Amino acid sequence: MGRVFERGTDGYEEARRATVWNARVPDRFPDLVVQASSVADVQAAIRYAKDHGMRVGVRSGGHSWAANHVRDGGLLLDVSRMDTVEIDRESMTATVGPGRHGHEMCAILGEQGLFFPAGHCQGVAVGGYLLQGGYGWNGRVFGPACESVAGIDVVTADGELVYADASHNAELYWSARGAGPGFFGVVTRFHVRVYPKPAVCGSSLYVYPIELMENVYRWAHAIGPHVDRRVEMQIVMAAAFPDLGIEGPAIVIASPVFADSEEEAREALSLLESCPVRDRALIAVPYAPAQLSDWYAAVTHAYPEAHRYATDNMWTSAPFDELLPGLRRISKTLPPAPSHFLWLNWGPSPKRQDMAYSMEDDIYLALYTVWSDAADDHRYAGWAETHMRAMAPQASGVQLADENLGRRPARFATDAAMQRLDRARAAYDPEGRFHPWMGRL
Ligand SMILES: Cc1cc2nc3c(=O)[nH]c(=O)nc-3n(C[C@H](O)[C@H](O)[C@H](O)COP(=O)(O)OP(=O)(O)OC[C@H]3O[C@@H](n4cnc5c(N)ncnc54)[C@H](O)[C@@H]3O)c2cc1C
Repeated sequence: MGRVFERGTDGYEEARRATVWNARVPDRFPDLVVQASSVADVQAAIRYAKDHGMRVGVRSGGHSWAANHVRDGGLLLDVSRMDTVEIDRESMTATVGPGRHGHEMCAILGEQGLFFPAGHCQGVAVGGYLLQGGYGWNGRVFGPACESVAGIDVVTADGELVYADASHNAELYWSARGAGPGFFGVVTRFHVRVYPKPAVCGSSLYVYPIELMENVYRWAHAIGPHVDRRVEMQIVMAAAFPDLGIEGPAIVIASPVFADSEEEAREALSLLESCPVRDRALIAVPYAPAQLSDWYAAVTHAYPEAHRYATDNMWTSAPFDELLPGLRRISKTLPPAPSHFLWLNWGPSPKRQDMAYSMEDDIYLALYTVWSDAADDHRYAGWAETHMRAMAPQASGVQLADENLGRRPARFATDAAMQRLDRARAAYDPEGRFHPWMGRL
């Protein structure tokens, strides 16, 4: 079943820690860590877990902020080595192993003039990303990336390898597109649709002083639904943006766009020129051409490796005046950069496919706290959660991408979807082999 590390033996702690990208590795200790390299390894590990009455946690890229896969007892199955990519240009499909990082997949596809709405940051593997929804490049056009999953290969709770799509094991397929860290099987391969690479990528960049917070967010709230769907309007507030030469708190609006021509890209971004305090912007670049690799580098800079992280989030479509007190509290308590507050303009969303992913709203708000010294945990670990608790009355639910369910259970799917997920779990994992979410409502 691949390399096995038993708790208390050499190599165990290294193997356990290696499964978590966040430097805040939790004090939770599985009995075994198994590094699988093949479907046969995965099947053997699941059969072993079954025979020994063990629960299973699965890890692909280890980017779960909460380290959802690391639980006390049971078996932690690391499938990061299963990372093949095969492209079929004719059918515009690809198969990809769960351990493959999204940015690598994009680069491989890009060589053939193809594209996939992979996540915004290097290192995020497709395994966890596609199961939870997947908010990636050009996501307002392609929808959550799980809508591009046409089928999956899954090792089920009894160690059987099955294929699931709309007409085979349909409930497993339905569940895999949205169950995220509560999925009850091991995905060993995703079959996805791929797309032509957009001819032009570019972005705009505006930086506003923090004093203009109310004007900027009120305007963003108002124009949100009218922003061209090819534009990802991302508004980031932080205590400083050293890369941009900004040493104090500020608001950065960086908005990638994908289009068929530069003229179209400029036109799509033009609404962002309409901010009523535009003349007070510290930096204003209405359009600049870019490469996906530049964006990856820029985004990844905000999430440095070997740092400690705490996150929390909410979906909302609350009126602006109801959000404002929460925004003010956040702006007055910003931890040092690169900690930040993200406002992502997402809706209004079109009707989605029928799948477990069923919770989204017009605006996504998320807090990412980043620090390096464990001695500062007491100062920073609660910032994101405290603000999201305070703003919960304005929230319709949370995203699983940045989930904090173990500490703050919240709604991440509709009630109907949760009931259907529970039925599917009871059918496919009757003995509860796979850990469920760390919290739910
Ligand atoms: C720096 C950073 C940037 C991010 N950027 C984005 C972004 O732009 N867009 C976005 O949508 N999300 C983003 N995320 C969130 C990320 O997509 C999720 O945390 C996702 O779960 C990570 O996938 P992973 O495979 O790397 O993580 P893992 O920690 O390996 O997986 C997360 C959970 O998914 C389940 N799982 C993983 N693999 C399998 C499998 N093969 N079979 C069954 N279950 C499995 C397990 O329950 C596991 O605990 C980001 C996270 C980080 C840390």
